This record gives sequence, C-alpha cells and structure tokens, in this order.
Amino acid sequence: MALRNILTEGNSTLNKVCRPVTAFDERLATLIDDMKDTVVHANGVGLAAPQVGVLRRVVVVDLGEEIIELINPRILEQEGEQDGLEGCLSVPERYGLVKRPRKVRVEAQDRHGDWYEYEGEDLIARCFCHELEHLDGHLYTEKAYRMLTEEEYEELMNQNAEDGE
Ligand SMILES: [Zn+2]
Repeated sequence: MALRNILTEGNSTLNKVCRPVTAFDERLATLIDDMKDTVVHANGVGLAAPQVGVLRRVVVVDLGEEIIELINPRILEQEGEQDGLEGCLSVPERYGLVKRPRKVRVEAQDRHGDWYEYEGEDLIARCFCHELEHLDGHLYTEKAYRMLTEEEYEELMNQNAEDGE
C-alpha cells in the first residue's frame, strides 16, 4: 500500500470520462488499497481514481466505521434536497455551496466483481454524487451556485481550528 499523488484542478485528466473496470485483478486491488490510504492521509471523505491519474470507474468513500470501494458505480435512486458546503481534494483551499439530493442509493461492484447496494444520507449522499461526477470528468465547482470568498474561507478555517478539528 502506498500514497498516491492527488491531481489538482487544471490537470486535464480530471476532465476526462473514465472507462469501466473490466479486470478484477491484483492491479485493481492495489489501486483501491492505495486510494484508501490516500483518502485517509488527506483527511478526505471520498476519492475517485481520476484524482490519482487513473481513468477507471473506481471510487472510495469513508463512511466512518469503514471505507467502502465502489467499482463501476451508478446511482439507482435519489430523493430530497440538501444545500451545503462542498470541497474537493483536487480543489485545495476552496469551498462552494452546492445543492444535492438528501438521500442516494448506489449500486457498485467490489474488487472481486460482486455487486452491492449502498444507501447514503446527508454528507454521504453528497459524497456519492460528488465522487461519481469525477468519473465523468466533472468537478463540483461546475455545479456550485456560489464559491466562498477568500475571507469566508479564512473565517471557516478559524472556526474549525477553534472547534478543535
Ligand atoms: Zn472531488
């Protein structure tokens, strides 16, 4: 297992559509394990393969008690709406306001090719939507109806520091 380098906005790999995973092999397992290490190390909630330069439909999401792997994921159902702050490991030091469904149901394969369904609410639903969009070459900054100003960002960081985060 190893940390992978996270690409940032402006790198054209982030704007490309990823191909489905067809080989459930050792190479895929290594990629997933590296992505799990990388998202934990970066204090992220989710990470998509194109963010580490791999144009395959692979996502990892940290649910807190475990980090799940989503291969060839797709959204089956969504409901409700939430409005809130969103950030991205590929867009450092910025946050924006994005409307998302409140609840999302996703279907995906694991590293062995077996299909599972996951349901996410609130932050996890937001994360599912955000990460799946990475696989089609989109960043949340395209969806944000407003990005925080530098002052607002500083204020948010100071608040988090005071909260001991
Ligand atoms: Zn992202």
